Amino acid sequence: MTKQDYKNMWVYIEHDGKKVHSVGLELCCEVKKLCEVTGDKLYAVVLGDCPEAELDKVRDCGIDGIIYVKGTGYDYYNTDAFSNAFTVLSKKYNPSAIFVGGTNNGRDFAPRFSVQLDTGCTSDAMELVYDPKTGDIEFVEPAVGGKIMAVITVPVMRPQVGTIRPGTFKYAPTGRKENIEVITEQIDFPVELIRTKLLDFMADDFDPELDIANAEVIVCVGNGLKNEGCLARYRELASLLGGKLGCTRPLFDREILPYKLQIGQSGVMVKPKLYIAFGVSGAVNHIAGVTADLSIAVNKREDAQIFNYCDYGIVGDMDEVCDAMIAAIKARRAAK
Ligand SMILES: Cc1cc2nc3c(=O)[nH]c(=O)nc-3n(C[C@H](O)[C@H](O)[C@H](O)COP(=O)(O)OP(=O)(O)OC[C@H]3O[C@@H](n4cnc5c(N)ncnc54)[C@H](O)[C@@H]3O)c2cc1C
Repeated sequence: MTKQDYKNMWVYIEHDGKKVHSVGLELCCEVKKLCEVTGDKLYAVVLGDCPEAELDKVRDCGIDGIIYVKGTGYDYYNTDAFSNAFTVLSKKYNPSAIFVGGTNNGRDFAPRFSVQLDTGCTSDAMELVYDPKTGDIEFVEPAVGGKIMAVITVPVMRPQVGTIRPGTFKYAPTGRKENIEVITEQIDFPVELIRTKLLDFMADDFDPELDIANAEVIVCVGNGLKNEGCLARYRELASLLGGKLGCTRPLFDREILPYKLQIGQSGVMVKPKLYIAFGVSGAVNHIAGVTADLSIAVNKREDAQIFNYCDYGIVGDMDEVCDAMIAAIKARRAAK
């Protein structure tokens, strides 16, 4: 078979038996755009039982078909049954590309089935581009410490597999197609061959302050922060603006703020209406995680890279500018 013989694109729909994970929906919306360029059909692949009402969200993303996989081995996530299912399915239907959410589970089993299929798997692409000359998808992502954007392709083998982090693409459903093809496959994986067992499940304590992915306003603090004692003013500004605090990686490395507040390529992807960066240099690894309607940057160096990415730039000391913003907001509110 040549690579031209591989047709259509698949998106894995991760779910926990009750709800679908948002990343599957985001991927359906983005991959649909790619399919419109390539002429491929878009299929959602669902392993195990998921409520139909939840799958309606998937249908609303304009998919052409759903592949349901039934059988033993899918009661809880495990590497063995899940990677086997994709290997078996892929050998039968020969898709051109398979996209998997870059969650803990997706990052675990996508490389595994890629190896079983002897093909390539790329991780954390920020952009998917189709090259009509080669027929390959270009997976674009920051590399070399964020100094360059690398273009990764799978030029020979098929399917082209990619894991994409949650929040990379927008969930923007375009509407349901009239005739969605339904394929049901029975793929039983012997449960005694599953090498991991789910003993218990304990959800993380949910702290709304650490849930920044959907925040409308983000005050982001970077490595310019002198010390932990200076943080209070940024919390206050975030609170006055009805927003949340976020940070760059060095703040997590310095153990000042938790990982869940780290924005960027290896942290959370955010899409606020307003993003204000204080003492942030503008490394691609960080910027790659921010899509804001309006962004403001404060940096003491006028040649800081962040000024290439913002709508408004303020050259000055971050603490002084933050204090001035707080004072201005309070004065304005007091005058009303
Ligand atoms: C594979 C990989 C993944 C990565 N993923 C991420 C990620 O997800 N998120 C992330 O953030 N980083 C990530 N990084 C790290 C990234 O490359 C940068 O090192 C990091 O973003 C820099 O953070 P920063 O801008 O806060 O710090 P710095 O680069 O140290 O910049 C600090 C800035 O503060 C300014 N400043 C200093 N003092 C003041 C002051 N008093 N007032 C105003 N401005 C001041 C300085 O001029 C400077 O521009 C990743 C790196 C790699 C290799």
